[in-house]
Parts: sequence; structure tokens; C-alpha cells
Amino acid sequence: MNCPFCSTHIEEFVFAREGQFRAVYNIAPIFPGHTLIVPEKHIASLLELGENEVTEMILFSRKVTAMLLKVFNAEAFDWSVQDGDIAGQSQAHLHMHIVLRYPGDLPNPGDWYPLIQQNYGEILDSALRPKLKNSETERITKKLREKAGEEGLFEF
Ligand SMILES: [Zn+2]
Repeated sequence: MNCPFCSTHIEEFVFAREGQFRAVYNIAPIFPGHTLIVPEKHIASLLELGENEVTEMILFSRKVTAMLLKVFNAEAFDWSVQDGDIAGQSQAHLHMHIVLRYPGDLPNPGDWYPLIQQNYGEILDSALRPKLKNSETERITKKLREKAGEEGLFEF
């Protein structure tokens, strides 16, 4: 199975974890703070989660978002799940984007959505967006892990 979220490589970018969900930093962020919430198990759709898992995912996502807003000094965010090929899902492993928003970041608030679609199968990456240097990714992940640890969102 060639799933980036099931490979051990992904752990390098995991900065928070609670129950069955992980927060993964996007190495080609649309804007600083761009994170993916990903279940441990390989399931494709939000509809495959049980009710308790949906609750767990939303509560975890909300805590991670609140933390990211503080760390990156942002005030607004978008959440997005592409569920199914027709909806633009690039990997058959459920993931939700958390995209932090900044004043004047785009001409129109809705312009972020096409940027999500620039992944072309590379879940954490985009040929069209600048990729962070390894040292930069390490620095951000380390900082986020420390912060997540303080907030009890880092279970390893
Ligand atoms: Zn997977």
C-alpha cells in the first residue's frame, strides 16, 4: 500500500497526537501553520468513522487549531475535507486541512480553496508551492511539539 499517511516517514512531521488522531505539519504550507489532521487507521471517508471518533476528531482539531492560532499569531482559519475523488481527494486516507488565515493573505477570502487542490497526489507537498527547507520544518515541528506537550496534546 503506497499511502503517505501510513508510511513511517510521516512521523517526522507529527507534532500532536490524541487518541486515534495525529496533527501533521504540511511541508509546503499554503500559509504558515498549514496542518493536516489524520486518523491512525487507513480509512478513506469521514463516513467510516464511528460517532465517538467523529467527536474525537473534531475536538482534537479544535484544540490543535487554537494552539496553531497562538503559535503563528493568526486570528482566522479554514477547515476542509475532500471526501471522494469527485471532491478532489488526493489520497484515499481521510485527512482534514487546517489553513490559518492572515489579514490580506489573498485578494478574496475564498481564494485559498484552489490552493488546496495544487497537491497533485503529493499529500504533504506541492510542485506548485514553495517547500520549506528541512531545517525550517524541523524548527517548526520542534516548536509545535513543545507547545503541544504543554497543552497535553502530545501522546507518544
Ligand atoms: Zn493510509
